[in-house]
Amino acid sequence: MNKTIFEKIIDKEIPANIHYEDENIIAIDDINPVAPVHILIIPKKKISTLNEIEDIDINLVGKLFKIAKFLAKKFEIDKSGYRTIFNCNEDGGQTVFHIHLHLIGGKKLGWPPG
Ligand code: 5GP
Repeated sequence: MNKTIFEKIIDKEIPANIHYEDENIIAIDDINPVAPVHILIIPKKKISTLNEIEDIDINLVGKLFKIAKFLAKKFEIDKSGYRTIFNCNEDGGQTVFHIHLHLIGGKKLGWPPG
């Protein structure tokens, strides 16, 4: 199966601006930011969509939120506020089929989403 763009970033085949990395997770700037802070927090394990999450992934997915919290503080948006989003499949607007948590902030965000 062809690698997704995120697998290529994880494997360092293409560059990205990395803000956090450990053996299980990488966090990078979104190439097309929608706000002053737009970071993608990506598990290195290939999980295509939220629909494929299993019990064994619960700690991993929970850690994505812990890193979101850490980065929100690092980028000083923890007090002003931010949003964390998983898009799923077509209606959810998912374009890369390797789950990733968007961390978006640094400006007042609109609600509800369209
Ligand atoms: P999705 O739409 O799947 O929730 O989010 C995919 C995100 O990946 C989009 O916000 C898009 O801008 C970002 N993206 C797509 N290709 C690349 C890339 O090559 N590098 C980086 N850093 N982000 C990318």
